[in-house]
Amino acid sequence: MITIISLFYGILGLIIGSFLNVVIYRVPRGESIVSPGSHCLVCGHALSFWELIPVLSFIIQKGSCRKCGTSISCRYPAVEILTGGLFFYTVWLNQGVQDARVFWYLVFVAILIALAFIDLDTMTLPDGLVYPLLIIGLLGSFVLPGTPGWLESVLAAAAAGGAFWLITLVYPQGMGFGDVKFVAALGAFLGFPHIILAVFSASLAGSIIGLSMLLLHRRKIKQPIPFGPFLSFGALAVLFWGDQIIQFYCSRVFC
Ligand SMILES: [Zn+2]
Repeated sequence: MITIISLFYGILGLIIGSFLNVVIYRVPRGESIVSPGSHCLVCGHALSFWELIPVLSFIIQKGSCRKCGTSISCRYPAVEILTGGLFFYTVWLNQGVQDARVFWYLVFVAILIALAFIDLDTMTLPDGLVYPLLIIGLLGSFVLPGTPGWLESVLAAAAAGGAFWLITLVYPQGMGFGDVKFVAALGAFLGFPHIILAVFSASLAGSIIGLSMLLLHRRKIKQPIPFGPFLSFGALAVLFWGDQIIQFYCSRVFC
């Protein structure tokens, strides 16, 4: 059943998504995420309150700046809708779960969205987001009941980061050190065996998309694709459905 509280968080997610658009653009450029306020990137026109309303402002302005007419990428409302949808789903899925843990999940979701799009744009995963993700993951598992627990969290972070670090030593062109730190943070949030499932899901999704792009001639064979968006996808899939997937797998394979 759709609850008022999940709808409320869905709307909050739209607003957070609007803020994530700012984060995605400014963090890789080393700019402040608070000042100056949101403005048109071409003419500098400062956005008024109603021009900041997620999705609706894009529709009302027909996807262009009110002052100079430059068209605005439809990725902006897409990120807002994605964040709103994932916030709604996270709260809806976790009814009855302690508020602090749901809030911890929402922070996780928001940072994953930002990192996925930054990696897509710049092929980097900025420390300014990856380190806070790792720290929030470890702290949450330390204090929140129902999470992996601090020991499992530390071990999963170290094991996942260590495994990826070894891969970068053997195959340095395959992935960067940003991925090593990112997967450690995911390990801290997800614990065992969920982190393994997340990496597996990410690799599977990456292979399918990578091959499809080759077949459709959208990519050259040596052209690298960022792994961050796939890791974010794998981590979210496991956050939402990890227990069910593991239960299903165990019931089929081991019993
Ligand atoms: Zn403008």
